[in-house]
Amino acid sequence: MQISFEGKRALVTGAGKGIGRATALALARCGAEVTAVTRTQADLDSLTQECSSVTPVCVDLADWEATEAALQDVGPIHLLVNNAAYANLQPFLEVTPDQFDQSFSVNVKAVLHVSQIVARGMKARGSGGSIVNVSSQASRRALRNYAVYCATKGALDMLTKVMALELGPHQIRVNSVNPTVVMSERGRLTWSDPEKAKVMMDRIPLGRFAEVEDVVNSILFLLSDKSNMTNGVTLPVDGGFLTC
Ligand code: NDP
Repeated sequence: MQISFEGKRALVTGAGKGIGRATALALARCGAEVTAVTRTQADLDSLTQECSSVTPVCVDLADWEATEAALQDVGPIHLLVNNAAYANLQPFLEVTPDQFDQSFSVNVKAVLHVSQIVARGMKARGSGGSIVNVSSQASRRALRNYAVYCATKGALDMLTKVMALELGPHQIRVNSVNPTVVMSERGRLTWSDPEKAKVMMDRIPLGRFAEVEDVVNSILFLLSDKSNMTNGVTLPVDGGFLTC
């Protein structure tokens, strides 16, 4: 299946590393003009070295005002990937208000905010568009020490559905991908303990964790007109984890 994004403008958050970076590069390879948003300038420098057509925006998405300022001149966007997230693991009884607020600021509030900015433009231009939120299997299954992360991803899934409901009449589709463990650098680090990894792997019928490319391919499908009638879904990219 050939996917082309020629003539489209895309914005990817958390594009400095991992899934977001790979998505930004894949979109550019498919012909999109890509704006890459993240908070570490060095990542943007190496990204623009790797792909000079990418437009970098450096901002901490947890900061509402700074985000508003950073994206005010972003121009028309047809494709949005809300990928940036904060994952800080701790036992439920040790969760602090700061960790809770930081997680919800990035994983939920920033998704709402960036989507508002982009969707207002899509609506005003009558151009329609496609938005993909990067959620997780953690939105639907309890994982030990992931109380806040699971809660943010659960909230994100419901945000995805309400956005699909309200933006659909403007031909703006909103979906999410919900991966299992992904072998990004962060994923490898978090799941490097073989015992911890085995417990998770045993629950995945395909018997492996996801590669970054597996997730990117599902994102590209949901962004593209190959999924034109798909709206409001939370698509597992989990090798069957959620079936068990
Ligand atoms: P990474 O940590 O590799 O990359 C996340 C990117 O988001 C980084 O570039 C990071 O920048 C950026 N980011 C984080 N917080 C902010 C912020 N406040 N403002 C701007 N940018 C920010 O993560 P992954 O690629 O592994 O994960 C990407 C997405 O996939 C996330 O939504 C995650 O929840 C989801 N996911 C990941 C899984 C996995 O196993 N890896 C499994 C299921 C879902 P910086 O490094 O500078 O902080």
